[in-house]
Amino acid sequence: MSYSYEAPVSQALFDRASIVTPGGVNSPVRAFRAVGGTPRFMVSGDGPYLTDADGRDYVDLVCSWGPMILGHARPEVIEAVQAAVARGTSFGTPGEGEVALAEEITGRVGPVEQVRLVSSGTEATMSAIRLARGFTGRAKIVKFAGCYHGHVDALLAAAGSGVATFGLPDTPGVTGAQAGDTVVLPYNDLDAVRAAFAAHPGEIACVITEASPGNMGVVPPRDGFNAGLKELCAANGALFVSDEVMTGFRTSRAGWYGIDGVAPDLMTFGKVMGGGFPAAAFGGRADVMAHLAPAGPVYQAGTLSGNPVATAAGLAQLRLLDDAAYAKVDAVSAEIRGLVSDALGKEGVAHRVQTAGNMFSVFFTADEVRDYADAKRQEAFRFTAFFHSMLADGVYLPPSAFESWFVSTAHDERALERVAAALPAAARAAAEATEGGAGA
Ligand code: PLP
Repeated sequence: MSYSYEAPVSQALFDRASIVTPGGVNSPVRAFRAVGGTPRFMVSGDGPYLTDADGRDYVDLVCSWGPMILGHARPEVIEAVQAAVARGTSFGTPGEGEVALAEEITGRVGPVEQVRLVSSGTEATMSAIRLARGFTGRAKIVKFAGCYHGHVDALLAAAGSGVATFGLPDTPGVTGAQAGDTVVLPYNDLDAVRAAFAAHPGEIACVITEASPGNMGVVPPRDGFNAGLKELCAANGALFVSDEVMTGFRTSRAGWYGIDGVAPDLMTFGKVMGGGFPAAAFGGRADVMAHLAPAGPVYQAGTLSGNPVATAAGLAQLRLLDDAAYAKVDAVSAEIRGLVSDALGKEGVAHRVQTAGNMFSVFFTADEVRDYADAKRQEAFRFTAFFHSMLADGVYLPPSAFESWFVSTAHDERALERVAAALPAAARAAAEATEGGAGA
């Protein structure tokens, strides 16, 4: 199809990239395959805006898939990074920044008595699962369809995010042995969890769930779901692992735990806690964490874990995230949700805006979305038309109908006005879209 706007410099870069990198990108959803067109190569960010290689700027509603909760290039974070870089970029020894970041995390999130820093959310969930298996001496893990926990072999079964976006059943390269101990259940279904424990007595090491899923679009837990998981895990000698890589330090000071108050045995973090750098973590009960090397026998390590520049960025960002900052992000989110709903409503487009704190996404369906099967029933082709109209009018949305939108403290009135101005045409485009039409 042809789009009504061009991005020649991004296109040239994408052509070059496609020669030297599979699909031209270093993470699949960036490639725009679900929506078609040329992925934008960004050259700079400032507050709520991104500027691409063709010199066009966009209101950014992706925020690097969550981390940039203070907007781009926030001066205090940049200064902290510059100061850290000037002292050296990696020592391979312990450093005070790691201690301070661990203290900040344990200070915010009650159930995290001890924490280990790693470099990506994937590493965090992979390590948490190894620890859960090592601690319990059991092999099986339970995960939910549509939840994405990074590209850990055992967790790619029926995963969300890019796996959902591209409708991949499962991933070649993951062997039966790696996935065979993974039990995949429908989200929000405690009966299914009960049945799994009954079917595998004494075999399940942990249940891992996104604290509130954002990788099949935003599908919050039903009232009592996380509490039910915790109860079932405790009753069956398994650990309850809450993946807060996306929600952590975003939905509140203490992430989703700060909203629902259900204390997991282990938690994973990433995104916001790195301030835009590769920093992530897993932590939880001290007696469980004590099984981790060198304190205990479960091995886990990383050359760049607790990197001084990444920890400085994360610490600077977290220290700026006070109650006022969360109130601002919540307000921006509420305003954009209202604008989107009004615009789609005016055009008679069936939709649901689902929220989890300040995370939200738009499903093109009239029905409530409670799990991955519901999410897949939406009219994703309408999102494609909507996405491209917004992009053409200078608003950068996640290039997939199965992803959360993210906002920041930096989204000011001017940025919101641009979003408001772009929405009527996008809603019209969504209304007029046909299956197999534009962008399909
Ligand atoms: N867990 C969740 C809930 C995520 O959303 C993600 C990434 O989007 C991950 C884990 C993996 O994190 P990373 O991309 O840093 O490996």
